[in-house]
Amino acid sequence: MTQPVPRLSIPNGPPDTILLNGRLLTLDSSGRVAEAIAIREGVIQAVGSSSEIAEMAGPNTRRIELDSQTVMPSFFDSHNHMRGTGLGLDAVDLSRAKDIGEVLAVVEQRAAVAPPDEWIVSSGRWHEEQLVEQRFPNRDELDRAAPNHAVLLRRGGHNVVVNSRAFERASVPEEATNPPGGTFVRDGGGSLTGHVIGGAAFQRILRAMPSPMPEQEEAALKKVMRAYNAAGITSVIEPDLMESEFTSYRNLRERNEMTVRTTAMFRFVPGFTPEELERAKFRLEKREFLPANDPWLRAGGVKITADGGVETGFIREPFAYTDDPREPHGKRYASEENLQEFCIVASRAGWQVGIHCVGDAAIDSVLDAYEAAHAAAPLTGRRWALIHMMAAQPEHFPRARALDLVITAQQPLQYTLAAGFRKYWGPERAQHIEPLRAYLESGLIVGGGSDSPVTPYEPLIGIWSSVTRETHLAGVQGPGRSPSKRR
Ligand SMILES: [Zn+2]
Repeated sequence: MTQPVPRLSIPNGPPDTILLNGRLLTLDSSGRVAEAIAIREGVIQAVGSSSEIAEMAGPNTRRIELDSQTVMPSFFDSHNHMRGTGLGLDAVDLSRAKDIGEVLAVVEQRAAVAPPDEWIVSSGRWHEEQLVEQRFPNRDELDRAAPNHAVLLRRGGHNVVVNSRAFERASVPEEATNPPGGTFVRDGGGSLTGHVIGGAAFQRILRAMPSPMPEQEEAALKKVMRAYNAAGITSVIEPDLMESEFTSYRNLRERNEMTVRTTAMFRFVPGFTPEELERAKFRLEKREFLPANDPWLRAGGVKITADGGVETGFIREPFAYTDDPREPHGKRYASEENLQEFCIVASRAGWQVGIHCVGDAAIDSVLDAYEAAHAAAPLTGRRWALIHMMAAQPEHFPRARALDLVITAQQPLQYTLAAGFRKYWGPERAQHIEPLRAYLESGLIVGGGSDSPVTPYEPLIGIWSSVTRETHLAGVQGPGRSPSKRR
């Protein structure tokens, strides 16, 4: 069971390091800007004027002269797939491709050097709207670019495009049916295009891929943690791990090699059938917890996904455009009943739960499930989370407040995916996505984050786009929803 992290006590004795004559943004409630800071054993002992802090120094204290430079607290990313970002660092990079030809050229280049049994996989950090053709490449084009390799292009967290060899390796037949929550997109003639939406459909392709070697995974994690440190990030919530994906974190922690404090949430799938629900409940009861008082690595509870992303968020009013006309309101990833019963069990057992919800109808069903859980065992003070909560409606906020919920908001999703929201949801609804001002005015606690690798992880991009509502490919969206007072 998760317990709160104990507060660090302030160590006594002369500081190890002091920083003097700078602009220290304390970001405390008074908005105070200090000149100097004293640090011992990694803990801040004091902030104050340069003369006050200089007096604390002992003979072995390291003095750093800031010369008016600014120092601020580091960033805590509330939703960051750090493992996935790390493993993606060496994946095929499509972020600079301007048309389908350039996408295929990058795939072809990788195929020329990759051993034939190696999968060609891209990072998810690109968008089809950046291409002149404004569409995904299709399976035939990928077959021509890499006839001898299985190819899987990720795009964001809810879409992949694969070639014929990848379908073969995963035993996906031409007549594959869409599972609940997933779509194998077909062309006008009924053939698979290679575009697959939703984990429920593409998990079976991912499972056919060899998993990374432990040393590869640990090296990727160390590398990405360094990159995060360089961008100012020192803490993340890693929101969607399986137990097997956690081993490399434990190994790094044991060797004292972590440089980003990590709170892991574990992926649970309550599903649609009684069997799926039982499996999820069984895992919930069996799971071993990590020590909760380790400041570097701890278990942060349960992660569930209630609906899809841009293309398949579960929404009240039908999509403006959809790849699956049979489900014009998008897709749930779990039935209403299973979601509720799972949350009741989790609440009684003392777990903390966070649920991905993009569409307004998904937010409705998450609030229904949380209310049922609250009736079974109160959620007050337990910080159950609404993850993303992108299409929030005014009536959601009082319900969330009554349950003492928190929002983990990822403005970079709006930044990265706005062109898709405009296409699938229509330009009017796209303006309302991720209404940060409404979150704050509702009085709920909001934790900002990125959703890397779907988005850039650099926090300053997220903060800038939160204030300006500027997006990558679709211009300013919903400027009145900026949290900035100056607008
Ligand atoms: Zn995510």
